[in-house]
Amino acid sequence: MKKQIFFTIQIDCESTQHALRDPALGERAIRGLGDVFARTATKGTFLVIPGDIAVHAAIYKELEAQGHEIGLHLHPAEMGMDEFLGVLSADAQRTVISEAMDRFAQAMGRKPLGFCPGYGSANDFTFGVLEELGFTHGLVSIPTRNLPQCACVWGNSSLDPRYPHRYNRVLSGDVDFVDLPPTVDPESRMWGGGHPQDLRVELVDAKNHWYTMDKSVRRQIMQKTPLRQWHAITHNVFDFSDPRNFRRETYIGIVNGARQIAEREGLAFQPATLAEIAAAYRKVVPRETAAGQKLKLDTRGRTFNHP
Ligand SMILES: [Zn+2]
Repeated sequence: MKKQIFFTIQIDCESTQHALRDPALGERAIRGLGDVFARTATKGTFLVIPGDIAVHAAIYKELEAQGHEIGLHLHPAEMGMDEFLGVLSADAQRTVISEAMDRFAQAMGRKPLGFCPGYGSANDFTFGVLEELGFTHGLVSIPTRNLPQCACVWGNSSLDPRYPHRYNRVLSGDVDFVDLPPTVDPESRMWGGGHPQDLRVELVDAKNHWYTMDKSVRRQIMQKTPLRQWHAITHNVFDFSDPRNFRRETYIGIVNGARQIAEREGLAFQPATLAEIAAAYRKVVPRETAAGQKLKLDTRGRTFNHP
């Protein structure tokens, strides 16, 4: 059987955010994305803040019935807390995430299993709290994004899906949560060097995204990663329902490029939700085999030889 490469896109849904407050645009965006996913035969994972899930639940139920995934996105400031999850204590994270889960469950009739914090903001308590609350997967890390001003510092964390370390968010370990970082090019720096170019639809055009996908798949093949995947992102703040919308055209261009690269590499193009990629990862890398990362003594800082 031909080897696969998964393709996924997550949509952070936050049209009711205080800075935006445009749920009508949010609705056009998610309906338009449903349409463009059908036309491109791809699948979306909509990660939704509580304010959006309350007003658009009926549409999310339709999207879910079409095979897309609906999970939780969180901007704690919308719930009267600090804006950044990564500055909160374990207790405060547990409180704010639980409250958001309850609001999600009220609208959708079930608890969310997928999670993504705003800005990729997290600290060393975050993964343990997510595991405890029953989340199974999500995008938390953004490898090489270093924005301390957003409590988002990831250094050289894994470029590929992983189980995170229990006490150090940057390391890999055995937390029962599959962290699914977005596809990034660590060498192309933006925003004053703090942010890697990623597969964010609205960041650049399709041609530019082609290079990021091409570089990523070459690395994954060379490093023989347990599973191959591309992970794109966008937000429900663009009018994806307009056929001439530039972001919509960019997404279609990304999918066409991804299919072309997959074919060149002899890989089967496999559209998937985040939940499906997490499940596939758990199958090829059983969590029981994932021990905490063992670190080795680094002696490069010594200026003389010990006897
Ligand atoms: Zn957000």
